[in-house]
Amino acid sequence: MAKDSPSRLARALFILLGLVMLGAAWVWPHLPSRDGARVEAGPELLGLLSGGYAYAWVLKTPNGAALVDAGADPQGKELLAELAARGVSPEQVHTILLTHGHVDHWAGAHLFPNARVVLGPGEGALLRGEYSQKSLVGRMTRSLPRPPLPAKLEEVAEGVELEVDGEPIRAIHVPGHTPGSMVYLWRDVLFTGDLLVRSNRGLDSSPFIFSESNEESRASLRKLRGVEFSRIADGHAGLTVDARAQLEKLLE
Ligand SMILES: [Zn+2]
Repeated sequence: MAKDSPSRLARALFILLGLVMLGAAWVWPHLPSRDGARVEAGPELLGLLSGGYAYAWVLKTPNGAALVDAGADPQGKELLAELAARGVSPEQVHTILLTHGHVDHWAGAHLFPNARVVLGPGEGALLRGEYSQKSLVGRMTRSLPRPPLPAKLEEVAEGVELEVDGEPIRAIHVPGHTPGSMVYLWRDVLFTGDLLVRSNRGLDSSPFIFSESNEESRASLRKLRGVEFSRIADGHAGLTVDARAQLEKLLE
């Protein structure tokens, strides 16, 4: 019995290593294909990579700026520097549209004291740590320390048209990655957070280890067919210009 143990251990380790490699081989093509630290999407829209892996989108408006997601860095290093360079103080950030409640999308939101922080129905529970996540990564990270919550959280309903410094932005509820995930339509740009992120395969839904329900995500992706966008600004890869064609390819 004792003689067999080392070979059993070696076999178990070999199987475990194989499983890890198989998992890595599956996840690898689905990981974000990133544009870089800054993504210029026009004179008013800039994507900034925060904490090295999540984009916050800065939308310059006549009286300050709005953000779509607030980055993974609780100190907001890249965000604060960029806003300062554009002559926008933290107090002049009037709106933050959160695509969902995963912390890498809102860690910097508390740095903007006057911002109306918009999020989807029920998603506040995820920010506050009150929602019990089912995804593998959600379960593994649930006890990590959380940054301070933003002051003015406001959950909005499906389809609501927000007025952001004089311009309409539509909020569309897309449950799946998280229950209260939202995408936002500004002009021809759809901000998709983690519902749709460009990988090496093209626009892709987040790997299942990060998401609460793949079935719901799939239904939400089909819903986007009815939305009038041409470009997609996502949460981890950047800007995709042929986004409609890529969405259709994904849904085939
Ligand atoms: Zn996420």
